[in-house]
Amino acid sequence: MVARGGERWLVDCGEGTQRQLLRSGLGLVDVDLILLTHLHADHVLGLPGLVKTYGLRGRERKLRVIGPVGLSAFIDRLGPIIGRTPFPLEVEDVAAGVVHDTEGAVVEAFNTDHGVASLGYALLEDDRPGAFDVDAARALGVPSGPMFGRLQRGAEVELDDGTVVRPAQVLGQAREGRTVVVSGDTRPCAATAQMAVDADLLIHEGTFLHEERDRALETRHSTVREAAELAKRAQVRMLALTHLSSRFMPREARVEALAIYDRVVIPKDFDTVEIPFRERGEPVLHRRDDAPVAPTD
Ligand SMILES: [Zn+2]
Ligand SMILES: [Zn+2]
Repeated sequence: MVARGGERWLVDCGEGTQRQLLRSGLGLVDVDLILLTHLHADHVLGLPGLVKTYGLRGRERKLRVIGPVGLSAFIDRLGPIIGRTPFPLEVEDVAAGVVHDTEGAVVEAFNTDHGVASLGYALLEDDRPGAFDVDAARALGVPSGPMFGRLQRGAEVELDDGTVVRPAQVLGQAREGRTVVVSGDTRPCAATAQMAVDADLLIHEGTFLHEERDRALETRHSTVREAAELAKRAQVRMLALTHLSSRFMPREARVEALAIYDRVVIPKDFDTVEIPFRERGEPVLHRRDDAPVAPTD
């Protein structure tokens, strides 16, 4: 789940999502947007139950569900199971490009390589105006108050004597927005690498260890090593490995990944990653017990 301001988005909705939401302490949050990476069962089976529960609870808020081509047909087939919902359910097949526009950010979908119609998603925040230089503003004769606010928001102001003060005179360099990229199930691919350049957080699958690279290739998945190599090339601030097969221990994945790139975490269910604005520090993984973990732990 992505939490940004008051918005809550879910990426994929596998079996057990409802139960895990309840156990997470978040409860059955009314998410606004569900982004599906592809239609394999382990990514969508939780959807009918979640939609049904929202209905039973009398949800009124619109729910938008987007995913690769084939999604609408899939939801249509689920019609008899889901029934009528008391809230607007908007389902849309989307292609690569901007798929969601919100205050200060967009979500961009990109094509991935999983042998079926599949997408990855990137949350891209707009740059924010630079820090406001109070002393510079005062020196130019701007009175503190509403004019400060207007300049901070990027508008010019006119002083009583007719002088015009432009934002560039009182604002520092624009500050970069944050970027979070989710690969979904995929072979390592150029589109993911491109989106992930300099990202704050890349959530990439690592279904197999290197010793099973043939199986990864066959099933269009990535190895842990490949995910780490991609993260290194893109110089992401944090790589979170997910979708690990239960045939190996997370410990083994950690060793394999760390041999390539040191900014790797392997989150467990209910862990969270906090992504501060860049000028305030690096992304941090919080284990459920709340002890912060450095990217290399
Ligand atoms: Zn899959
Ligand atoms: Zn999967």
